[in-house]
Amino acid sequence: MPEENKYDKYEVVVGLEIHAQLQTKSKAYSSDSTEYGKAPNNNVSPVSLGHPGTLPMFNKKTLEYGIRLGLACGSEITYENQFARKNYFYADLPKGYQITQDTTPLCTGGEILIKDDSGQEKRIGITRIHMEEDSGKSIHDLDPYNTLIDLNRAGVPLLEIVSEPDIRSAQEAYNYVTEVRKLVRYLEVCDGNMEEGSMRCDANVSVRLKGSKTLGERTETKNLNSIRNVLRAIEYEVKRQIDELEAGNSISMETRGFDAVKGITISQRSKEMAHDYRYFPEPDLQAVFVKETDIEKVKRELPPLPNELLNKYIQDLELSVYDAEVLTEDKQFALYYEDLIKHTKNYKAAANWMMGAVKSYLNELAIGIEEFPIKTKQLADLIKLVDDGAVSNTVANQKVFPKLIESPKMSPQKIAEENNWIQQSDTNALEGFIDEALNKFPDKVEEYRNGKKGLLGLFMGEVMKASKGAADPKLTNQLLRKKLEV
Ligand code: ADP
Ligand code: MG
Repeated sequence: MPEENKYDKYEVVVGLEIHAQLQTKSKAYSSDSTEYGKAPNNNVSPVSLGHPGTLPMFNKKTLEYGIRLGLACGSEITYENQFARKNYFYADLPKGYQITQDTTPLCTGGEILIKDDSGQEKRIGITRIHMEEDSGKSIHDLDPYNTLIDLNRAGVPLLEIVSEPDIRSAQEAYNYVTEVRKLVRYLEVCDGNMEEGSMRCDANVSVRLKGSKTLGERTETKNLNSIRNVLRAIEYEVKRQIDELEAGNSISMETRGFDAVKGITISQRSKEMAHDYRYFPEPDLQAVFVKETDIEKVKRELPPLPNELLNKYIQDLELSVYDAEVLTEDKQFALYYEDLIKHTKNYKAAANWMMGAVKSYLNELAIGIEEFPIKTKQLADLIKLVDDGAVSNTVANQKVFPKLIESPKMSPQKIAEENNWIQQSDTNALEGFIDEALNKFPDKVEEYRNGKKGLLGLFMGEVMKASKGAADPKLTNQLLRKKLEV
């Protein structure tokens, strides 16, 4: 078998664990602030420092956020939530254990919908979502001799989202993390900023011969800090594992790290060295019970979800899949559109404006839609101006829109009037311009009549110039033809 075909014999199997830091004001089991960017070791009380004799107190927001995410994924919500200690010694974990959930994760089952490699919708199963706390941060690169420890992050609440091994390629993993990030942002439970560490991903990767029903031995690559690195690490790991297997070696279960500069994964600890966490029930916290009424309340307050909006745009508003995807990529952007279509029924034009002029403006200034100066009502008025034939689409985009950004309080109608941009669709004025243009180039008129139809553009240009861009192009075109083709 030729060398380049060896990769085709294998199927990729990936399961992802995502840690999402919750946007609560205080920590998971204490009232310490979670504020990001404070000077090191400022958000710490004896609880975060793990002093003996301190007791944890459960932050109810964590539960609410967990239920929110669980409902959005269609998970089963657990009634009795116990907490467990996951024991290990590490300098950034002063208690010597992490409070997490073991046998009673808050959510079980459910799914995230993604696109597979052929663009088809695919369901990735959720195994469980549980509540836990973050550790502090060890800083190895500030001091040449010592490791520094910042415990501000210690005790910040996390949701860990564990997927089934349903993912079949690095690209699918990329799409999955993108969907999860979009979802936690829509739900406003986590800011999803992977580069800042508020969302992190561990990738469990194995390969098996195509057609095989059993899973291959897996490795786990930890702490991937961007969606792109999730893709890169998995691509590398798949190739490495296939190369090993093809060379007659076996894969051993191990934890690996990703070197983003070199683009390679590196073995960190093998199975023999794997942690034995000695889980046991957390004696300092009572179980938390979720009542049906709690779930109902969260359900009632659930914000619009990206998939709901996507389906609505495709099915009800009859937008293309592409348009619907672009509109729903970012929640605030989608909400602007939602508001815009309260003021106009021209859904397609509204989508075009948002994906065109509005998006370019935002990109140019590198700002979000929250900072966009034009109110939805104004933009809808501008759309109406075009629909009524008062200004052409080009004039609306290139002239009225920039003016509207400068003076968002003015009405588009007024802007167009004051600048004489109202389209001249009154035939008398237009005919004047047309006659002028035809009289200017009698020889070209002859040529046109002898078959050189391309000259129409020249006359159109003349009329536009004479009318200072205010002539209605469609009408001009009609009238010109009529006069030329006598
Ligand atoms: P651990 O505690 O060892 O990390 P978990 O049960 O929490 O184990 O699950 C780890 C993840 O590994 C899950 O996302 C699961 O889908 C995935 N996984 C399990 N077996 C395999 C495999 N053979 N190949 C790829 N992924 C796997
Ligand atoms: Mg794991």
